[in-house]
Amino acid sequence: MGQGQRQRKDRRWTVAETVIEVKGLGRTFGNHRALDGVNLTLERGTVLGLVGQNGAGKTTLIKHLLGLLRAEEGTVRVFGKDPVADPPGVLSRIGYLSEEGDLPMWMKVEELVRYSAAFYPGWDQQYCDTLQKEFGLSSSAKLGSLSKGQRARAGLLVALAFRPELLLLDEPSSGLDPIVRRDILGAIIRTIADEGRTVLFSSHLLAEVEQVSDRVVMVQAGKVVLDEELADVKETHHRIEIAFEQAVAAPIIEGAFGWQCEGNRWTAICRADIEDIQLAVDKSGGRLIRTVGVSLDDIFMARSGSKLG
Ligand code: ATP
Repeated sequence: MGQGQRQRKDRRWTVAETVIEVKGLGRTFGNHRALDGVNLTLERGTVLGLVGQNGAGKTTLIKHLLGLLRAEEGTVRVFGKDPVADPPGVLSRIGYLSEEGDLPMWMKVEELVRYSAAFYPGWDQQYCDTLQKEFGLSSSAKLGSLSKGQRARAGLLVALAFRPELLLLDEPSSGLDPIVRRDILGAIIRTIADEGRTVLFSSHLLAEVEQVSDRVVMVQAGKVVLDEELADVKETHHRIEIAFEQAVAAPIIEGAFGWQCEGNRWTAICRADIEDIQLAVDKSGGRLIRTVGVSLDDIFMARSGSKLG
């Protein structure tokens, strides 16, 4: 169980509160379908890991949540509001860190802090000072002269210091060293530890997603192909290995995907009860050699035919 899940389970939610509600979202760039009928609901207090290959549509989805793109098809609601129609009502409650950072490079850290604080009535300067110290960011350092990792920390500092209700992180650990990644993960966990905070972060580091997420959403070519509680994903997916007397075509097992063959043995990832798998294997004339648990990476590989990152 991820740390996020553990902390979430410790909390007592009386009424589920919807923070994000996306229905039938579609977006086309030229003749490229970047998002295709995306549905997504995110409840308060959840940490959601958004995964998918480069170009799958993750950033495009996040841009819609921020109101940077208007829904061509479908609807987007954040805190019950349309982010395009009511930017202050939505953006004042979102902490956002983009893949690129998007920081004004000519500013010093202290200027970035002052500038950002002015936007948010709920800015918590004490928390900001604590984080800045923790991140080892000098007030007088110019953003343009910082390393990529330090810049990511500066972006994170101003995304967190007003204690946002929703934290959106687009590939927060992309290209960063393990220490900065640990800071970022720590920040996610700290944020959710604050009662009622919600986090959506996209990542290609599936081991990290597994560590902190309550829920995982997998996007492929603009479509959501998996949207589930992480604990359920882990519980219901198995790697299966089946042996036959001689080489045969891939057996038909309901819920199995990503088949691979070596001689007279077939392996796949299967989403089904072990008993049902056993029955289907018996029916196919094969022998079930083993079933083992799988990582998110295994599931992703089997679904997409390639590795992330
Ligand atoms: P990455 O992991 O590389 O950031 P992603 O999953 O975030 O990928 P998006 O950036 O959402 O993917 O892009 C989805 C698709 O839409 C890609 O094929 C991309 O080239 C295309 N796309 C995104 N924005 C635009 C744009 N403004 N104009 C044209 N095509 C775009």
